[in-house]
Amino acid sequence: MIAGDDPSKYPQEAKESDELLRQRVMGGGDFSKNLAEKFGMPIYNSLAGMQLSREQYKKVPYSFAKKHVVLPIKEENGAIYVAVADPLNLEPLEELRLMLDSEIKAVYSPKDAIMNAINECYNQELGAASQLIANMADRSEDDRGDGAVEVYDLLDDRLAQAPIIKLLNLIITEAIQQGASDIHFEPFEDRMRVRYRIDGVLQNRHSPATEYQIQLITRIKVMSRLDIAEHRLPQDGRIKLRMGRREIDFRVSTVPVAGGERIVLRILDKGNVSLGLDKIGMLPNILQELRSLIAQPEGIVLATGPTGSGKTTTLYSAICELYSDETNIMTIEDPVEYNLKGIAQIGVQPKIKLDFSAGLRHILRQDPDIIMIGEIRDVETADIAIQAALTGHLVLSTLHTNDAPSAITRLVDMGIEPYLLSSSLVGIFAQRLVRCICLGCKATYVPLDKELQSIGLIRDNLIDGKLFHGEGCGLCYDTGYKGRHGIYELMAVNNAIKKQIVKSPDAVELRRIALEGGMISLIQHGAELVRQGVTTVAEVLRASKGVEE
Ligand SMILES: [Zn+2]
Repeated sequence: MIAGDDPSKYPQEAKESDELLRQRVMGGGDFSKNLAEKFGMPIYNSLAGMQLSREQYKKVPYSFAKKHVVLPIKEENGAIYVAVADPLNLEPLEELRLMLDSEIKAVYSPKDAIMNAINECYNQELGAASQLIANMADRSEDDRGDGAVEVYDLLDDRLAQAPIIKLLNLIITEAIQQGASDIHFEPFEDRMRVRYRIDGVLQNRHSPATEYQIQLITRIKVMSRLDIAEHRLPQDGRIKLRMGRREIDFRVSTVPVAGGERIVLRILDKGNVSLGLDKIGMLPNILQELRSLIAQPEGIVLATGPTGSGKTTTLYSAICELYSDETNIMTIEDPVEYNLKGIAQIGVQPKIKLDFSAGLRHILRQDPDIIMIGEIRDVETADIAIQAALTGHLVLSTLHTNDAPSAITRLVDMGIEPYLLSSSLVGIFAQRLVRCICLGCKATYVPLDKELQSIGLIRDNLIDGKLFHGEGCGLCYDTGYKGRHGIYELMAVNNAIKKQIVKSPDAVELRRIALEGGMISLIQHGAELVRQGVTTVAEVLRASKGVEE
């Protein structure tokens, strides 16, 4: 802000601390630091790595620390040292004196350093959800009248006095910390069951007593602005939550089942996606081939695989790589999950008849160069996609088939003429995500012949004749796996494939020709990862179920 501007025009900025405001008016970020130096205050440019005493900061509410940008950092000679970002703001120090019941000594730290330390301190509540469920056993507070809570900062204790709110906050915080993609709340026998999907697999976490079921469900419905009185019909909603500085979106789905309602929170954590074709684990020669396919000015590139196989992330990565000031890239998606910088993304809205095919028609009037279609579900969308590809556009889309060759069979079954496919398709890839062996408990073993045969590995090619697996540890919640890695097969639509499409679009025959031409199959890529000790035979077979070798 420039000095002399009317601050009331900037309601958001005016909310920030006076310290920041003053810095902006003075036109210098070092103002507070200079002041601190003049006052003779010790200066800590970073608080990273300091052993902060939980005992002390726990006495200070998160909301207070965040609002005033203050944090107790150490105790020495009977005084508690508090990091402050604004040497002139003495009031909170007075309050801290009372809260901590001790002499306070102020030290200066930059605002960013203090905020990072605050987020880190108050974030360490692992396992707290289980503890709370145990403590709640004989309490019976009811917080159903609590519709007024509108600010959902997960770390803010002040807003979470009611146990049910606290419990839900802890569950969500824990799920995010453990890297879950979904949280399931469901009635289960005589209790409720809370499960997290981590690395693609559901894992049991909590089982609160049934009496909390309705309260938890009501709370989630309030947060996602759903009708709390409606128990018979499925509902969809959204929640936006803050966790310290991170903003996280959730998609909420409720469905009535026997014994109550089932709720799934899908976590759409923008901080969790790493986009970039070189970051998603493709073999170098597949990566190079895919790059040459998407570099073509026109044609269709298809990604296949079941839901959750990472194909959208791959297409997003491709789009980000193609983005430049000279291209117009537009997408139609259901829904838009991540906002990509500089890309015009349209979400389908069935209620107003904006579906894939309608959206696609509008996009074509917007002079696009590259178009991404979230999914080809019907012949209408397929038709427009092919017309777009034949008239000078690069089209990227996904299709729900097991492997690359089956995509062609599926499109012909939909009613697309084979000659149109052979002239518009440039490449199809299939992909799956396999879980990686946990590095905390990775160990070698000597595999049986049968196991090696099931994935086409030869004992002589193994490292010291052995394979790897995870034995289970605290890091991986005893699953033996942590993190995921993509496996890919890429079928370039070359002349031999084109000929076969027109002759007979048979998936088995197409697959044979592709493999003859040097295609590396999903399972072959998986087998190589098994050999290197990245994943296991069982995991590759699980992920690639239904795929022909
Ligand atoms: Zn482990």
